[in-house]
Amino acid sequence: MLATLDDIEKVAISALKEVQDESALEAWRVAHLGRSAPLMDVFDHLGGLPKDERPAIGRRANEVKRRLEAALLEKAEDLRQAALTRSLQAERLDVSLPGRPMARGRLHPSTQTQRQIAHIFAEMGFQVYLSRDVETDEYNFQLLNFPPHHPAREMQDSLYVDAANRGDNPILLRTHTSPGQIRAMREFAAANPKNPPRVRIALPGMCFRHEQINARSEMQFNQVEGLAVGEHITFSDLKGTLTDFARRMFGQNARVRFRASYFPFTEPSAEMDVECFVCGGKGCSVCKNSGWLEILGSGMVHPTVLQNGGYDPARYSGYAWGMGPERQLMLRYKIDDIRYFWGNDLRFLEQF
Ligand SMILES: [Zn+2]
Repeated sequence: MLATLDDIEKVAISALKEVQDESALEAWRVAHLGRSAPLMDVFDHLGGLPKDERPAIGRRANEVKRRLEAALLEKAEDLRQAALTRSLQAERLDVSLPGRPMARGRLHPSTQTQRQIAHIFAEMGFQVYLSRDVETDEYNFQLLNFPPHHPAREMQDSLYVDAANRGDNPILLRTHTSPGQIRAMREFAAANPKNPPRVRIALPGMCFRHEQINARSEMQFNQVEGLAVGEHITFSDLKGTLTDFARRMFGQNARVRFRASYFPFTEPSAEMDVECFVCGGKGCSVCKNSGWLEILGSGMVHPTVLQNGGYDPARYSGYAWGMGPERQLMLRYKIDDIRYFWGNDLRFLEQF
């Protein structure tokens, strides 16, 4: 009987060596430790053995059972380790593979130019003031010295948001960044109404007009406007500031000239031309052979506008200007159609 137990152990251990996976291991467990395994048969027949053989056989049978159970646990652990190693091998990351390139975005050319302009004025002490896109007629026109039915409104066909029952004060999309002048002055003046602080601001933003869209006009475009209000500000301050701006924007040798013009909210008013940066003033198709490019409108703030902003025109004076980043880009890069700016065509946008 002891020899049978030796055989049982030997056969079971050598069978276990052949086991390669979990299902084979389970089959082995049933065959060698299960209810109908030969080892269990020995336990079943212990009672029928002679009394003096029983203890030795029982001890040996228990020993075989413990060894087989220990071998089973060990094999199960080996299989688990082997599976782990296999999956580590199979799922290993190859860090030497080149990565997928990320598509990098960029700022819209108008935004880039707006920021460049704002940056230059920031260096001169102007702070950016963001004003709302939706305005009332009062702020967009009346307080800027465009009374109702003023002919200058004809130049700014408007997109109305709400006109019903609002009489002379409908709500519209701002046609220029200028209403921000009134909002800024009133905000500054409210801080100290008797002694309003000086104003130095740049107002960038989108403007909207009811235009026929074609190569030269769009119904939306950007402006960067500026306003300086304080005591003893003169027209020469305006000229000095804008001439300096032109040099920082277009190069130290940029020459400018001022031409008399008309805007309802400035008096006197002037347009500023910069010497054509395409031909250097010799005359070309971009400057239409004049040698000059018009880049901005400007003027001394109208006394009525100062008053409406809360600044006493007897004591304060100021100047303002406005320019279009898209127009400057069109001139600089000879872009012949303004519709490219809002057409969302990456072939255009990725060139900047
Ligand atoms: Zn030119």
